[in-house]
Order: sequence, then C-alpha cells, then structure tokens
Amino acid sequence: MAIVRLALPVAAHQLFDYWLPSGLAVALGSAVIAKIGRRRLAGVVAEIIASSEVAPERLLPIDEVVAGIPPLPDDVCALARFVAAYYQEPIGLCFAQALPPFVVARRAAVVSVPGATGLVKHALNADQRTAVSAVLPQPLEFAPSLVQGVTGSGKTEVYLAAAARLIAAGRQALLLVPEINLTPQLVERIVAALPGVRTAVLHSRLAAGERRRQWLAAATGDAQLIVGTRLAVFAPLPRLGLIVVDEEQDASFKQQEGVRYHARDVAIYRARLRDVPIVLGSATPSLESYAQATRGRYRWLKLPQRAVLQAALPEVRLVPNRASGSVEGIGSALQHAIAARLARNEQVLLFINRRGYAPSLLCAACGWKAMCPRCDARLVVHRDAGRLRCHHCSHAGNIPTACPECGNQDLLPLGFGTQRLERAVAELYPAARIVRVDRDSTRRKDSFAAMRNAIAAGEVDIMIGTQMLAKGHDFPRLTLVGVLGADNALYSGEFRATERLFTLLVQVSGRAGRGALAGEVLVQTDFADHPVYAALVAHDYDRFAAALLAERKSLGLPPFAHLALLSAEAKRPAALDTFLSTAATRGRAIAAAHGSECEVFSPVPAALPRRANLVRAQVLAQSPNRRALQAFLPLWRDELERIEERSVRWSLDVDPIGFA
Ligand SMILES: [Zn+2]
Ligand SMILES: [Zn+2]
Repeated sequence: MAIVRLALPVAAHQLFDYWLPSGLAVALGSAVIAKIGRRRLAGVVAEIIASSEVAPERLLPIDEVVAGIPPLPDDVCALARFVAAYYQEPIGLCFAQALPPFVVARRAAVVSVPGATGLVKHALNADQRTAVSAVLPQPLEFAPSLVQGVTGSGKTEVYLAAAARLIAAGRQALLLVPEINLTPQLVERIVAALPGVRTAVLHSRLAAGERRRQWLAAATGDAQLIVGTRLAVFAPLPRLGLIVVDEEQDASFKQQEGVRYHARDVAIYRARLRDVPIVLGSATPSLESYAQATRGRYRWLKLPQRAVLQAALPEVRLVPNRASGSVEGIGSALQHAIAARLARNEQVLLFINRRGYAPSLLCAACGWKAMCPRCDARLVVHRDAGRLRCHHCSHAGNIPTACPECGNQDLLPLGFGTQRLERAVAELYPAARIVRVDRDSTRRKDSFAAMRNAIAAGEVDIMIGTQMLAKGHDFPRLTLVGVLGADNALYSGEFRATERLFTLLVQVSGRAGRGALAGEVLVQTDFADHPVYAALVAHDYDRFAAALLAERKSLGLPPFAHLALLSAEAKRPAALDTFLSTAATRGRAIAAAHGSECEVFSPVPAALPRRANLVRAQVLAQSPNRRALQAFLPLWRDELERIEERSVRWSLDVDPIGFA
C-alpha cells in the first residue's frame, strides 16, 4: 500500500501520512483533498513512502486528487520547504502559498491587450544597453544584479529588454512588483512594449477564477512573462529563465501576517535553485541589497540619467516649515511657487507624508483628545463621512459636537489631513482645479483611474495626495512637487525610518519634471541640516547609504545583524508578561547551552501597546551571524510552543522590517 505524506494547511510543523486508495494516481507535488479532524482540506503530496510509523489501522485514505492542476514542480516544493524552515512557519501553510485558489478549471487564458499603445517606444540608451547585457550571463546561470537607477532612468525598459531576449530563447520571465504599482497602466505598458508576448498577471485582488486561470497559464508554460505581486514568487514556471524584483526595497514584498516571508529574499533563493539570473531594481536600494552590491556579491549597475531626452532630475529646495505668512502649513515659499505654476498652466502635486500626520480631534480648553476606546491610538477625522475612525481596528464613531470632558463646543482638528489641506488650497487659489487622491477619495472602484485620466488630460491644476500618488505616475505637465510633513518620520523610533523617508522623498520628487519641462521640489522642514535632506538635494543616494551603513554597523543593526521578533498579544497583561519573560529566559538558556552568538533581549511593549483591547509586547532575538540565528530559532520555537499560556497569541517574524 502506497503511503503519501501530505503538507496540509494547518498550523503544524509536520507532514501527515495517508494511504492512497487504488485507482488514484499521484505524483510529488500533486494537489489532493484529505480529511483532518472534521475538516476536508486541500494539501500537497510532499513525499511518497513505502511505510508509515503510524499504525495502519489509524491511517486515513486521501479523498481525491484535485483535477486540472499540474503537480507543483520540484523547485516550488523545495521553495515551500525553505520558507517553512527559514521563517519558522508551518510547512503546510507554506505549500498552500504555492497553490491557486480552488475553483472549477477552465482553459488557461492570458492577458492580451492588442494595440494598447499611445506610448512612444524609446530605443535603449548606452547605460540601459550595458545593463541588459550585464544582467544576463552567458551561459545562463545564477547571477544576482542590483540595477540602481534614478527615477525616470528607464529601469523597466531594461527589465523588459532582458526578458524579451530570454523569451525569444524560449524561456519564461517573472517580474515581481509592489502591490501599489501593479496597475492596469503598467500591464498595458508592458504589453505595448512586448507585442506578441503572452503575459499572465498574478495578484491577490484577482477573483479566484481569474487567478486560477492566470496561474495555470504560468504553470503550463503558456505564459511567457508573469507579472505579479509577492505571491507570484511561488508560481510554478517550467521554463523560468529570469526573475526581476522591481522596487526591491518596497515593504509590500514582506508578508506581514500568515506566513511571514520576504518575496525578494525568497526570489533570490529560487533563482539560486533554478540557476537563473535575478535582477533587483530600485532608485533607492534597501541597505541589505546595497551592502551586497558594495561587497561585490551582486553585480552593480547604475543608471544615473533620466532616459527621456531633455528631462533632468528636479531641483530640490528645502524651505522652512514655520515661516511668517504660512497658511494651514503651506509656507510662503511654497505659496509663491504654486502661484507661478498656475500662471504658467503647469501642474502641482502637494504631498503629505501621512504617517502619524492624520487629523485627530483635540479640545483646546481641557486637552481632551479623541482616542480609540480599544487601542492606544488617536482616532482620525474623516470629514466627508462625518466619522471618527481608528486606523488600527474597526472602531468608528460620530464626530462629537462638543468636548465630552468639558462641554467646549469648539473642537479643533489637529494635524494636516489631506481634506483640511484641500480646503485651505481651495481658499488660497479659488480658480484652481483641485483633486485630492487618497484612500477616502478613491474608495470607489475605478475612481483612481478616472482621476488619473483627468490629470493626464490637463483638467487638474493641483493634486493633493498621500503615498498613493508617490509612485509610478508620469504627468508631463507636473513641474512642482511640494512636500509637507516629511519631518514626522524623523521622530519615529524605528531604525529604518530615515531610510524609508529618503525612498519616499525620492519617489515623490521623481514625479516632477518627467517631460520636457524642468521640475522643482520644495520640501518643508525644520531640519534642513539633516543628512537625509542633504542627500536628497544632492541626488546622492550613495553618500547617504554609506553613512547609514556606517551607522548601522556601529549600532550592530541589520544588515550587520540578523533579527527575529517574537510578538505576542493577550487580553490579560499578566498572561502576556509571563509568556514573554518565560520566552526570553528559555531563549537565553538555549543560546547559552549551544554556545550560540544569539542574544535574546528582555520584553518591551510594542509600538502600539494596545490594539483592539489586547495588550501587545515583543522579545527580540539578534545575532551577528545568520547561521547562528537559524540554528537557534527552531529550538526556541519548540520551547515557545511548550509554554502553557493558552490565552496568548504569538508569532515569530524572521528578518522583520517593522516593530508595530
Ligand atoms: Zn474639553
Ligand atoms: Zn482602535
């Protein structure tokens, strides 16, 4: 009797044995349905073995083999095992990342948008041509490259040209992009640039049936180019020849719940498994990738110039935040610059760094603040809906007409939200046509696309926006970007805050002057001497990165240290304390017993110490050496699973990118 060992999507670190009824045929990687407890779950055949340690009478049969899905190939199975081991995640959940949603199979379809152009195809410049050749070794083999190109330098053209060469040679290319960048416009642009290439698109917002069709197109080898968000890193690709990770520094590549993996790092592992080249692209590489390039472990290719003729990088000026004549946070320098653009019929983008800058409600008489009753967080004013909302849980309430503490009827919104800025701008420039682009104004499906079309058609003078407008959009008449609230990031306690701020500022600055008209960026700040702004003005990421790396080295922080974060939450503070202090004590004991270089710190409250009525805290484990941390983690996880505090929910995050 054949025994199959299944990876089932349950929170366990083991495989489960079943017997195979005669008449069913499976291969390694086959998707099957089996009962576990009372549930019927879809799992993957991870091993086929002759005999089980489980007594035969206790073994269950598998119920059925999922029809219409080819078995997961060896490299995808190996990838799932790697993710389970490296990130300390349940193996069945890792295999589940690689399966498509289960719906009735139909014929595989691929995207084709015939004649969707309107975009001018530029011939590659010398830098781009050099980059294309350099990222593709002959013969094809594992070779990681970092393409560091200023905004507008045409990194996408480099990726697509490299992909086109491999596709012409019969291979598949996988292009991973951040969630916010995967727009219909990007897909159109790719289809237009690579006419005749069969393209599949994979992301989590696709309906299940559509996602499955796209997955099948990838898995059967029918699709030649696969464009997707982080989940596409697991797509089966029988003829894979190249992986590209665009905006490799983007935080959306890290999955923050469920299986906590980093798609960029998993992609590097996959490229090594398949012995194919991988290209990481960014204007502002992550310090992790930057350090690899400086050590010579990645090929390092720079695109220092904008690809469109005449388009230069915008001039960046720092202007004071608090100056006389400032109206609702818009200083006089910025006011003059806006007026000049309006007079010339050019477009302006006002960008608010939303992080920690959302408008909340304050009573000036008694100091009362509108707080979420369930979290240690201020409620945010959403004036359009007339609601106060918590951005950390689902709490929402009406905006009070008077202070609940003292009865004062004059409650002030504090902070510059996009809505308040929009009203101020409308009063300053009554003739200007203004559009606000944020989560509230674009909630309706297609409304973002409609706004973008209006902007492109020149029907808008001033755009007011948050992160949504920072990336990827190309408006030739946009010549001024004003940045408000950038300093907020400098108050953050997180060690990656300045790195992220720089990336954000480069991205938003990159919106200015992409066509023939010169661009200008005005950043309002109280800290004009800060290195992050000096580097921005000089367009000098390298100097900034070198300084940050030196600082990280002296502080023993990533990429010079490797971290794992144990986060826990509970209703009762005492249960949380007991769990985490036991976790820290046992962690130290393991490290001592094994002579490990790992250090386990004492519990500290999370950045948000209470969320949805749960108290939250963390323990950090750190090692100068990745191998030592990897050896330590499974032992620690075993101990954590033995701690008897049932009311505590916990998770381990290996290589965390944040401490929320
Ligand atoms: Zn009051
Ligand atoms: Zn809340």
